Amino acid sequence: MSPMRAVVEVVQAHRTVEGGGFVVRRPFPTASLDHIDPFLLLDEMGPVEYGPGEAVGAPEHPHRGFETVTYLLHGAMEHRDSSGGVGTITPGGVQWMTAGSGVVHSELPPASMLKLGGKMHGFQLWVNLPAAKKMIAPRYQGFDAEEIVAHTLANGGVMKVVAGEVAGVRGKVNTTSPVTYAHIEFAAGDQVAWAPQEGHTALVHVFGGEVEVNGEKAVDGQMVVLERSAGEVRVHSASGASVLLLGGEPLGEPVARYGPFVMNTQEEIAQAFEEYQAGTLVR
Ligand code: MN
Repeated sequence: MSPMRAVVEVVQAHRTVEGGGFVVRRPFPTASLDHIDPFLLLDEMGPVEYGPGEAVGAPEHPHRGFETVTYLLHGAMEHRDSSGGVGTITPGGVQWMTAGSGVVHSELPPASMLKLGGKMHGFQLWVNLPAAKKMIAPRYQGFDAEEIVAHTLANGGVMKVVAGEVAGVRGKVNTTSPVTYAHIEFAAGDQVAWAPQEGHTALVHVFGGEVEVNGEKAVDGQMVVLERSAGEVRVHSASGASVLLLGGEPLGEPVARYGPFVMNTQEEIAQAFEEYQAGTLVR
């Protein structure tokens, strides 16, 4: 039997209002938790039921120095960026956007959703880039629901692996650094044994129901942070649960962040602002 990673902390997500006015549930960053290397932000968008004309999104804005990962469970989002990346994310689909040296993009509800309203629920994760890759060319990867690798669990739950590998199931996204991203809908009694790479960050975010993570209980709105050891992460749900597993290699580099830019120094942040204002952020 492999060793189990100890639980370092159980973080409580808080509600806040982001971008064009959408309500998110955010485990980090907070005043006391700036980032969890290599992850910079996790937002659960909604769930919210929009009436006609109420749907909101994020109009044109820039990014530099990291990646934004958008995964939708309900609703739709139209994406358009300055590198030519275009796509509509639909339920079960994912968009992995590497901002690299700089993009300007918009993330908006499609016209039909604006007109009719509807349910919106999803996640945005920010993944930091190592210093050596912050200025790489932007890249856009989009996958529809049917392209996400799904695996049925023993009691009928479903595990969808977007990136990396969990219990022998491998996702399709070509990540810039080693990242694991999985969504699990646990049926009652299901369990998953995840063996993140030794020393890598491992997070279990619960967004419905209740689980035990290496024996520690976590409920809807809580994120379990595990130690960066060599051990396993065992997630079990007695009554059913909705969970994200996030794993990644910590960069161990200084993080200078301001709004839509994440670099290593304040000088690089100032430079990003200057270039954005001068219209030269996008190369
Ligand atoms: Mn954005």
